[in-house]
Amino acid sequence: MKGLYENEMKLEFLSKSNNEAFARITVAAFAAQLDPTIEELADIKTAVSEAVTNSIIHGYENMEGKIKIIAKIFANTIEIEISDSGKGIENVEMARKPLYTSKPNLERSGMGFTIMESFMDEVHIESVIGLGTKITMKKVIEKQEEFENDKQLEIIGAE
Ligand code: ATP
Ligand code: MG
Repeated sequence: MKGLYENEMKLEFLSKSNNEAFARITVAAFAAQLDPTIEELADIKTAVSEAVTNSIIHGYENMEGKIKIIAKIFANTIEIEISDSGKGIENVEMARKPLYTSKPNLERSGMGFTIMESFMDEVHIESVIGLGTKITMKKVIEKQEEFENDKQLEIIGAE
């Protein structure tokens, strides 16, 4: 029997706003081996972008720190862990509520966690005040059936 397909990568970078695009593109490139649809890839990029932005803005409050990403593939599932060693979240239950933000004056809308939850299949938040925050997200990438690909080609007039 063919074994379960597994893969893993690690990434560490400084909490500079330029690295938000670097992180989301790198994770998307890693996820591409699961053959996701454009929409699934966009969901992953958006979720990574929200979590990394949170580490930069809230975790380190624009001071310099390190952000780590570990991405793992198990069969058709991608698991992405994004962690910082920043200030931590006082009340995780409150933080994940839609529209809750601790920085309303900085044009934050408080929708980051809600977006991560709607675009990914699972989102876990672990946080310790003064030690940091770790977000673990999972998304299942369904295999597209051959006939669906054919149908798509037909629809766009390629076949
Ligand atoms: P938006 O994401 O819409 O710009 P936001 O970042 O305030 O606004 P969320 O991403 O949902 O909203 O986060 C909610 C709150 O959780 C934040 O306002 C902040 O207080 C806290 N938070 C989130 N991530 C972290 C983190 N990595 N470290 C410390 N606090 C965090
Ligand atoms: Mg946010």
